[in-house]
Amino acid sequence: MTLGFTLDTPPAFGARQQREHLGFGVFYGALSIMIIMSLIFAIALKQRNAAYYAVFLLSTILFWLKLNGIGFQYLWPDAVWWHNEGFHIVYLLFVGCALQFSKSFLQLDSLAPRLNRVFATLQLLALAGIVARLLGLYEPVLMLSFALLVVLTFVIPFASYKVWRDGLDYAFWSLLAWLLYAVGLLLSIISASTSLFSWGMTPLFYAQVASLLETLFLMIGLSKWLIQLELERQKAISQANEDALTGLGNRRRLQLAFTQLKDAMVIDHRPAFVLMIDLDYFKQINDTFGHDAGDKVLTEVGSLLLRICRESDVVTRYGGEEFAILLRAQDVDTVVQVAERIRVEFASSPTKHHDHMIEHTLCCGIAEIMNIDQQPSVQEMMKHADEALYQAKAAGRNQSHVYAHKQPHHIV
Ligand code: GH3
Ligand code: MG
Ligand code: MG
Repeated sequence: MTLGFTLDTPPAFGARQQREHLGFGVFYGALSIMIIMSLIFAIALKQRNAAYYAVFLLSTILFWLKLNGIGFQYLWPDAVWWHNEGFHIVYLLFVGCALQFSKSFLQLDSLAPRLNRVFATLQLLALAGIVARLLGLYEPVLMLSFALLVVLTFVIPFASYKVWRDGLDYAFWSLLAWLLYAVGLLLSIISASTSLFSWGMTPLFYAQVASLLETLFLMIGLSKWLIQLELERQKAISQANEDALTGLGNRRRLQLAFTQLKDAMVIDHRPAFVLMIDLDYFKQINDTFGHDAGDKVLTEVGSLLLRICRESDVVTRYGGEEFAILLRAQDVDTVVQVAERIRVEFASSPTKHHDHMIEHTLCCGIAEIMNIDQQPSVQEMMKHADEALYQAKAAGRNQSHVYAHKQPHHIV
């Protein structure tokens, strides 16, 4: 063990102390901000990982308050027992929290169950150590603490590496954080227990910097994890409203658009329309060219609709070979023009399937909502559009019809 002594003049001593306090302020300030942030994540997003991280940070703060003497000097100057004897208790608490956070953050229970059991065993050992220390045992707890210190610096980076290699991207930050921590610790141990370096207490300073960087990297990892969680949530939502074959919205998407329509109409006063589309003799296409060919035609309808409609239109596959579009337009003529473009383009672009060119046509039925307050129910709206569609079918197919309140009238 080497101890470095420095003799300072009073002003130099004051300046040194100021620097030291600034360093501690940055260290504890950063850790406290991270605690607040992770508590907000934990409460607002109901995420247990973030709560574990907050507890881990708290145990880190407590550990360093004891190790660098700040706690004894300012916070608990009279609690001699707590300062001396409590050190291993706090350290073992830190070990338990680090293992708990890593276990849940790295998803060890599902990704590496054996490592999960190792982590749980180490946590039990840490707990046993705390109890033993409270019962007054010293030597065995000292040995246990040292053993856990060494094991911890290997086992967490190893687990991080393993799940990272298996595809858990954000585990990289855990690997980096704990490797850094291990380096800081290794330097401290070598310096304290060998005469390799004569650095005195300086390595403790490096270990503390490493500890701060470690917590920062873990925070980055935690944020990456939260971003990933949010992306997965958005993906799940959009998949739930999406038709797998065409990539258009599905019936749920249309339903959602209807419920939002009232609010949208307060801002945009233009009337809303439903355009229903049904392919003509589609069953024959399936029967003649096979189901795959039918699917290909449906996919091409999807692309055609997306090409012709505007981004603000809600384009959905209503079911089978029926499509429904909810759109806003100045007047019904504009919607008729859209419907006619769809009808004409579809009729003039046969689908190529293997060596065949499949000819096809479709019918459009249009219904209008003049005023949201006098709006018929969604079911009624769809019934109107369906009725117009039926008229188009009955009139010979490959046509567009608009629903008229008394009787649907023929346009084309
Ligand atoms: P109409 O002109 O009266 O509309 O006649 P149609 O043959 O188009 O109508 P019908 O309702 O008799 O048949 C619709 C067909 O659409 C029957 C069904 O097998 C087919 N179909 C529904 N969903 C799919 C799908 O996802 N893929 C394929 N390939 N066919 C589908
Ligand atoms: Mg149909
Ligand atoms: Mg049909």
